[in-house]
Amino acid sequence: MLYDVIVAGAGPAGVAAATVASQAGFRVCLLGETSGQQLKVGESLPGAALRLLRRLGILHLSSILRSDEFKPCVANASMWGSDVWIYRDAIANPEGGGFHILRHRFDAALLDHAISVGVDFVPAKLNSVSQGGGSHVLVTAAGIGMLSGRFVVDATGRAAAVSTKLGVRRKRVSEQTAAVGWFRHSDQDADSTTRVKGVQDGWWYTARLPQGLRVIIFHGLSTEVSRLKKLPDRFVEWANDVHLVPYNLSLDHAVRPIKCVDASMGICECIAEATWLAVGDAALSFDPLSSQGLLFALYSGIRGGETVIQCLAHPASIQSALSEYRVKVRRVFESNQLTRRLFYESERRFFESAYWRTQRGN
Ligand SMILES: Cc1cc2nc3c(=O)[nH]c(=O)nc-3n(C[C@H](O)[C@H](O)[C@H](O)COP(=O)(O)OP(=O)(O)OC[C@H]3O[C@@H](n4cnc5c(N)ncnc54)[C@H](O)[C@@H]3O)c2cc1C
Repeated sequence: MLYDVIVAGAGPAGVAAATVASQAGFRVCLLGETSGQQLKVGESLPGAALRLLRRLGILHLSSILRSDEFKPCVANASMWGSDVWIYRDAIANPEGGGFHILRHRFDAALLDHAISVGVDFVPAKLNSVSQGGGSHVLVTAAGIGMLSGRFVVDATGRAAAVSTKLGVRRKRVSEQTAAVGWFRHSDQDADSTTRVKGVQDGWWYTARLPQGLRVIIFHGLSTEVSRLKKLPDRFVEWANDVHLVPYNLSLDHAVRPIKCVDASMGICECIAEATWLAVGDAALSFDPLSSQGLLFALYSGIRGGETVIQCLAHPASIQSALSEYRVKVRRVFESNQLTRRLFYESERRFFESAYWRTQRGN
């Protein structure tokens, strides 16, 4: 089967790239897996994301999600470099406070939107990628054999499956792992802020989600975090000790076992070449502290999709289009690094602890 564009990975970045290319009239195949009903991390959607969704033809979250699948975030509360909670009201943000979403539902709704604009979704995992005859790229995927495309987009998240298979190395910029727990929240829980709290060995994050859920995440060095996965009682006890939420959590209210995920920052050493480019986490993954992952996934998916359109429609301008895309991603990386350093340096209370020294070191 011959496509103009094959996008691997059906997360927000892949869906954005596929939607943009399909809207421009190209024949697009989106290869990927859906998360079904499984809860997913990455639930804080910044207000600025609404502008990017409009570029995809989605006027508001309510156009794709039911009212019980997203909630506005009214403020950010942080205990970072300070022993008291500091509140930043959403009203002070010109883009608004953003939303807490059911992430698996958001991803599924974006995918439905892509299919509605003509993207051919193939529920399969990319196995291999290679240069075919002429300028075509050949892709194989589990259960469906070989596909041929004029351009391939790597949107496979931190796995960076396409670039890795093409021999591109990924640079880890920071070391961090996260332990994630989802709980049914108490009836008295009316806190719709996003909370972040620095502690000796890392930092905690929590947000109340739609449908009576609350996500609690601890970010630390991998040895400490993997211990928590094996000792869920300790996870709950510790979250209660640091008073992350104004009531006691109980393991009886956990809706899933504690899960460990990579939360390091990383960047691909090459993000675009003549027949492929990377978008979203596959190109650049952030420290979750920045809450920029979804915004960048949508932004780079759209910019990446537009770059592909330019490469296919005007082959003479391929090099300038790819170079412009590389520069854009590099700028995001550099400005994020600057802010990240400032944040980690501003927490002086645990200056000598291994976690904070590690974060300041990279
Ligand atoms: C602990 C933690 C908390 C976070 N919290 C937030 C937050 O609150 N707000 C925020 O904005 N960001 C957050 N992020 C980051 C955010 O989740 C990511 O940046 C975002 O999901 C990136 O989107 P993506 O489409 O690039 O990748 P993904 O969402 O990872 O999607 C990639 C897709 O590719 C698929 N895939 C992988 N390999 C293959 C293959 N070989 N073939 C086909 N498909 C494949 C995967 O199954 C997946 O569906 C958080 C990250 C972490 C680690």
